[in-house]
Amino acid sequence: MNENLSRKDLELAIQKTRDSFDTDKPVVPFIEGDGIGIDIWPASQRVFDAAVEKAYTNGRKIEWQEVLAGQKAFDNVNEWLPEKTIEMFDEFGIGIKGPLTTPVGGGIRSINVAIRQKLDLYACLRPLRWFKGVETPTKNPGNVDIALFRENTEDVYSGKELEVNSEDVGKLNKFLKEEFNWEIRHDSGIGIKPISKTASERLIRSALNYAVENNKKNLAIVHKGNIMKFTEGAFRAWGYELVKNEFSDVAISWEDCSGDAGDKILVQDVIADAFLQQVLIKPQEFDVIATTNLNGDYASDALAAQIGGIGISPGGNINYENGKSVFEATHGTAPKHAGQDKANPGSLILSGEMMFRYMGWNEAADLIIKAMEKSISEGNVTYDLARGRSDAKTLSSSNFAANLVENIEGFK
Ligand code: NAP
Repeated sequence: MNENLSRKDLELAIQKTRDSFDTDKPVVPFIEGDGIGIDIWPASQRVFDAAVEKAYTNGRKIEWQEVLAGQKAFDNVNEWLPEKTIEMFDEFGIGIKGPLTTPVGGGIRSINVAIRQKLDLYACLRPLRWFKGVETPTKNPGNVDIALFRENTEDVYSGKELEVNSEDVGKLNKFLKEEFNWEIRHDSGIGIKPISKTASERLIRSALNYAVENNKKNLAIVHKGNIMKFTEGAFRAWGYELVKNEFSDVAISWEDCSGDAGDKILVQDVIADAFLQQVLIKPQEFDVIATTNLNGDYASDALAAQIGGIGISPGGNINYENGKSVFEATHGTAPKHAGQDKANPGSLILSGEMMFRYMGWNEAADLIIKAMEKSISEGNVTYDLARGRSDAKTLSSSNFAANLVENIEGFK
């Protein structure tokens, strides 16, 4: 049974979430993060508090509440992801996190994946844009302004995998041979890739809704349906059905308009490998992307690299239907730089910017963007963004934050 909200109910749910944050002192649980988390969290928090203080004269303030995960949790309470942390994100409906060490061997596979799955945060939103002054490997990085929606709960990430030579893989192989006459090489590990109509539709519906809310001109469904017809191909088909059934007043598929969408949002589909070429050659033709989990993983990191933004690329994991969300730095713990007050807090700061916008605190979000634009274009940056720039001054994590705060306080 498909239990997704309809478009109308989704819009109402999003409004309800925003209304719930129309309050002076919301509690926001945060995970400091391992490795460079110790440097970038305090720097980011300073910027968040300064933006809120500047934006609102009515005493609005975030009540930050630390929750544990990762190495810090393991060292303190002997668990990588304490249940209490999930409960807090669930209770307050929001959270933000620094990077986490992936435990090696046994137990939990990835804490990030576990958080997304436990809270059913079905959409991973990665806004990808260039900041003037950031060195990039490509020409015209300013042409990239893309909101990428990656399905976050299934595909190869659903953890349905069996190890080579295990008893279970033997049983499955035998079943597949007997029931389907599928020949799989005997020394294979086997992974199962589920793509459901429920998960695909709610992701694509959220992406379409985002396109409508933000006056975007086009949306591309990125898939590998030429090879995997009943998973990736079905994702594409369900997307087009949704356009017809729920969004026909504001969106139209390529097939139905031969490319001329008029005032409507043009929805087309692109095969994942072709997409990675096209987005490099003509990124200006893509506004919003809706894609499956693994494609989204590759595409978002490739695009982040394209705009030189690995240290500043933010992400949000969102369930638009029940309102829960966790925003996060997209890079790892960069252990070799940990504790040196050196790493770039930009990814976490921009994740906070996304969080404020999600809460409807757009004024604070706008200040953060403006401050980042100013610092980076003026060359006040951390070591990673100073590399290759003769005009830049290398700042520590905390001084970069101080520079942003100074900008925020100075804006009229
Ligand atoms: P990484 O931590 O992202 O670091 C790789 C390199 O990227 C760093 O050495 C640094 O390059 C650059 N970098 C990353 N973040 C930066 C920042 N904020 N400021 C400046 N430079 C930054 O990747 P990794 O070394 O592969 O992974 C380390 C650990 O993080 C692993 O345990 C991994 O599982 C985990 N991880 C966690 C997440 C997450 O929690 N979301 C994501 C990915 C990886 P230079 O040294 O060249 O300057």
